[in-house]
Amino acid sequence: MAYDFDLFVIGAGSGGVRAARFAAGFGARVAVAESRYLGGTCVNVGCVPKKLLVYGAHVADELEQAAGFGWTLEEGHFDWGTLIANKNREIERLNGIYRNLLVNSGVTLLQGHARITGANEVEVEGQRYTAATILIATGGWPQVPDIPGKELAITSNEAFYLKALPRRVLVVGGGYIAVEFAGIFQGLGAATTLLYRGDLFLRGFDGSVRTHLKEELEKRGMDLQFNADIQRIDKLDDGSLKATLKDGRELVADCIFYATGRRPMLDNLGLENTGVELDPRGFIRVDEQFQTTEPSILAIGDVIGRVQLTPVALAEGMAVARRLFKPEQYRPVDYQNIPTAVFSQPPIGTVGLTEEQALAAGHKVQIFESRFRAMKLTLTDIQEKTLMKLVVDAKTDKVLGCHMVGPDAGEIIQGLGIALKAGATKQQFDETIGVHPTAAEEFVTMRTVTR
Ligand code: FAD
Ligand code: NDP
Repeated sequence: MAYDFDLFVIGAGSGGVRAARFAAGFGARVAVAESRYLGGTCVNVGCVPKKLLVYGAHVADELEQAAGFGWTLEEGHFDWGTLIANKNREIERLNGIYRNLLVNSGVTLLQGHARITGANEVEVEGQRYTAATILIATGGWPQVPDIPGKELAITSNEAFYLKALPRRVLVVGGGYIAVEFAGIFQGLGAATTLLYRGDLFLRGFDGSVRTHLKEELEKRGMDLQFNADIQRIDKLDDGSLKATLKDGRELVADCIFYATGRRPMLDNLGLENTGVELDPRGFIRVDEQFQTTEPSILAIGDVIGRVQLTPVALAEGMAVARRLFKPEQYRPVDYQNIPTAVFSQPPIGTVGLTEEQALAAGHKVQIFESRFRAMKLTLTDIQEKTLMKLVVDAKTDKVLGCHMVGPDAGEIIQGLGIALKAGATKQQFDETIGVHPTAAEEFVTMRTVTR
């Protein structure tokens, strides 16, 4: 049967755009449907605007440090409206770039909600299209627990478009988004409380990293409340919000921000017209080649709930394009040693196994850990400490994990990701000549086993 397209991609986010562009480049006839915004979550309400706000918040640190370097500054004034307007302008520029990328690579771009009407058929705005393969790349959506007053809370989607910077913010959650946005609000001057239901936030990260970040955030005056969860939210007469916690305490704020994870975006996608099955967590079930339980339908990115990161969605999109249209270049996605950063203030950079994971996997480990005050701070009164940590296999000398909390951690960890991918040993780290004077050189000069 002749189909309208070889590949029909639903969602022009990180994964969908990558798959569509490369498939078209390999000679396939490709369509992409996008209902909301080109570039998806990352470009519009994720990585990019988030990082711009983090930069904005970081200016406060620079201003605080300036006096030590001889600068006398007049009292600074921050204007939220300017930051958001400038951010919005940049996002619009990126939307245009994504449009050009797709159109110039020969992809047919369809604006509107796509609904799958059969194993090889998709409907967009009343028009039906057939395709040999359908790729679901619809991403995720913030998930807020079902408590009374949840409609009074916001999520990351709305935070990027707030009219004004709230004076008092409660951030709920203990993952990437909660920690990053708590840092943004706090850095820009809001009195910020972070509420997390467990003992210590950032579950799954290295224990030293979690404790170190907690201490540094407390030094900055952030109110961290662990083992705390909201039972209900009420609006008060003066417009502020009252959160009643499960332990009976009441907290009042101007904004309650939930960052309690993201669900797969499957709304009105028409999966009931297909044999696509979900996994027990509700994400689309795929095999190692991103094949769903319906032979003509594949899925990638946040909607499969493996690793919810843009570079991972990109790698999955690339793998699908190659597998379908350039099989001689196909390589499976390697989920080992994915470097990642949390853009908290100070930021986290991490790659490989945590100490806890290494021990649980049966490794006998040597831990090298260093805490120091960054050189830049020596002319200031700021007492912030940087943490660097290496987890090494005592038997093979292989470096299993690198972890950092401190300025530029995300920038530094990328190179260490290459070292781990190449299987570097601690001896090779030691034999690598440092770049002096940097914080990064500490990763090649740690000689004494901490434990
Ligand atoms: P998405 O980028 O979400 O794209 C899905 C697209 O599909 C959307 O544009 C959506 O409108 C569209 N769509 C959905 N349903 C339909 C339909 N039925 N018809 C048509 N179109 C549809 N990752 C990082 O690596 N680094 C970061 O710093 C980072 N920061 C983040 C900060 C925040 C606040 C958030 C929320 C996420 C962040 N992420 C970050 C995660 C990253 O954004 C996602 O992992 C990535 O965007 C996933 O890409 P995707 O292609 O799977 O989905
Ligand atoms: P995460 O899954 O990272 O964290 C969710 C947090 O919410 C956890 O601390 C979790 O607690 C808590 N939580 C979940 N359900 C509830 C509930 N019902 N009540 C109270 N607390 C709850 O999700 P995020 O929303 O922070 O981010 C989604 C994903 O986006 C991230 O996992 C990451 O992959 C990606 N991302 C990446 C970024 C980056 O690369 N810098 C930045 C932002 C997002 P518990 O641990 O106890 O389960």
